Amino acid sequence: MPSPPATLGDLRSSGWRDRSVKDELRENFVERIRRGEDLFPGIVGYEDTVLPALERAILAGHDVILLGERGQAKTRLIRSLVTLLDETVPVVHGCEVNDSPLRPICAACRALVAEHGDDTPVVWLPREKRYAEKLATPDTSVADLIGDVDPIRVAEGRYLSKSRSCIKRRKRRLQVFRSSFRRSSPK
Ligand SMILES: [Zn+2]
Repeated sequence: MPSPPATLGDLRSSGWRDRSVKDELRENFVERIRRGEDLFPGIVGYEDTVLPALERAILAGHDVILLGERGQAKTRLIRSLVTLLDETVPVVHGCEVNDSPLRPICAACRALVAEHGDDTPVVWLPREKRYAEKLATPDTSVADLIGDVDPIRVAEGRYLSKSRSCIKRRKRRLQVFRSSFRRSSPK
């Protein structure tokens, strides 16, 4: 097997396509349907209700909310979606936010690509590292959930991680927010 492209130039000539996470999930899901593979191995009892809805959501590129009691396999279902991501994706070497080499957004990577062009080094990130869970409690703020970027620091070209950002854990990933609501006791 040829080794994966290690530079931006090699990546371009390999024909690799830059896709959104939702496109990646959908296209890989369709592939799996074509091959007739089990879509959710180990998940039993949801064939007629939960799974069809989840499948439609993936195909339509929707965000998904799973509501249910403890122990109803919500986490297991969501984690199984990791297998629908590409096995590895290319990122700019050394990037803190997993920038796509074809579409870098951070100042450091844009400078790197401007300077090195097709020689910009590329590394490959496995899908297991592209799954992130965040526990959301009633006192969780919007900034906690989506990240908080200091635009002045970013404009100055400083690293995103130094601006209290949690975006680096969100980008190009399957992001799961977990929450639990206590049911009010019956009167
Ligand atoms: Zn970057």
